[in-house]
Parts: sequence; C-alpha cells; structure tokens
Amino acid sequence: MPDTDGPGYRVFALRYGANPRRRRYENVIHLQPGGCHDAAMPMDFFVWAVVGADRVVLVDTGSGPGTMTARGHDHHRAPRAALADVGLDATEVDDVVTTHLHWDHAGTIGDFPRARLHIQRAELAHATGPAMCSPFLRRPYDRPQLTHWLGALHEGRVVFHDGDGEIAPGVTVHRVGGHTPGMQVVRVATARGNVVLASDAVHYYENLTTENPFPVLVSTIDYIEALKIVARLADGPDHIVPGHDPLVLRRFPPAAPGLDGAVALHLSPAPLPEAAVRA
Ligand SMILES: [Zn+2]
Repeated sequence: MPDTDGPGYRVFALRYGANPRRRRYENVIHLQPGGCHDAAMPMDFFVWAVVGADRVVLVDTGSGPGTMTARGHDHHRAPRAALADVGLDATEVDDVVTTHLHWDHAGTIGDFPRARLHIQRAELAHATGPAMCSPFLRRPYDRPQLTHWLGALHEGRVVFHDGDGEIAPGVTVHRVGGHTPGMQVVRVATARGNVVLASDAVHYYENLTTENPFPVLVSTIDYIEALKIVARLADGPDHIVPGHDPLVLRRFPPAAPGLDGAVALHLSPAPLPEAAVRA
C-alpha cells in the first residue's frame, strides 16, 4: 500500500459495484438537442476508507447483492471485502459516516459491528417521516436497510449531526442537502491538502463542472448551492471526489500495485479529461 510523504490521512475509493448499461439521460438533467441522450455513461458504486494512525473511518457502507441486483445494477463484492483489499478488517472500523440513506450508501451496517454510525438528523427524519408516504420519494430508500438502522438507533450506535460536525481531528462532516434533505459530505485532511468526499452531492465530475444536476434530487436550489459548498471545502478541483464517476478509478493511482477497483485519493490524480469539463 502506498504511503503519504507527510502527515494526514490516507483515503481510498473502493468500488463494490457498477452499471455499464447506464445512459446519459439518467445522469444529467439538462440534455442538449442532438446531444446523444442514449449515449453510454457507466456508473460505479463506491465506499471510501479514511485511515489514520489510530483510527479507521468508513464513509458509506454500500449495499448487499440482493438489493443491488433487484435495482438492475451489478454487485461485485461486499464493501467489507473491498476494505480487505487495502489491508483493513471490518472489525477495525471505528466510525461509519453515512452520507445519506439511499439504498446504495446505507446497507451492510451489520458488517461493521464496532462502528458508531454518523448521520445527519435531517436525513433520518426524512427517511422515517411523512415523505415516505410518497412512492416516488421513498423509491431510493430500502426498507430492510432502514429497519437495520432503527435497530442500531435503539442499540445506541447512532450519532446525530446537525450541519457541520467533527468525526476526528481532520475529518469533518458538512450537511449540504439538495440530493436529499440530510445529504452530507466529508472533508479529510491529507498530505496533499483537504480532500472532499462528495458522495451524491456530485455523482459525476460533469455534474459539477457543467453545473448540470443528477436527476435524483429534492431541491434544485440546494443542489446548486451544495456544489458551491463542496468547492469551498476542497483545496482545489483535484481535491473533489465524485460519488459514482468511473473516472475516479482512472485518474487516481491504485491503492496497491496491481489492485483493481481501489485507488488512493491522498495521492495526486491525473488531469481530468477534456470531455468531463465540456458544457
Ligand atoms: Zn443518493
């Protein structure tokens, strides 16, 4: 595993699934006339590991295979197996930050029995409140997963945040909203500066660089504001890590030589391809 040259956390993006069949119209709202709405625009599914000298923070816990395949995506491996690729055991995870409770981010919490679960108050309220009377609004949520969350809540494992919060020195959460009411992003101090794990505040680089939202959102105004907050929190454009973009695996170096589907975000990325910044 590569190490940093100085102080700071090591951060890894770990892919646990993918959907190579995804189309452009599913991933951006604004489509130009003649803009190949049906063009392929594959999606990756990630969890992220933040590793310090004496602490492991896992950002999101992905999904199990049943939930994922039922929704038409390919499940590659359990998130805990992806962690093992970078030399970490699931029992070493001290804290889980759940960026939001959508099905592809909030599953498998039972695989991390020691971890405290960090969530925004607004997110759990949304996912267990009157909005769930609407079939449209509850579609991205998974009932068995939410049941596990309520179990964890009653076991005293859940830590609520309301806005900004600190998980550990150099690891902070920030509520941004937009995609969901309690959507939060994570900022991590690394040797190359502050990296922001944007999760679904920014699915693809293109959502950010062309200000063209991903179609699943609860507030367009908050979504656009969230893009600005993410940009402010990060030390530069190369410090923003989108939640579902296959370019992440292409831009960043492997977490270990020859390792597939795991990259080191604390190391510098290759330049962003021109196609990802075109309006
Ligand atoms: Zn989401």
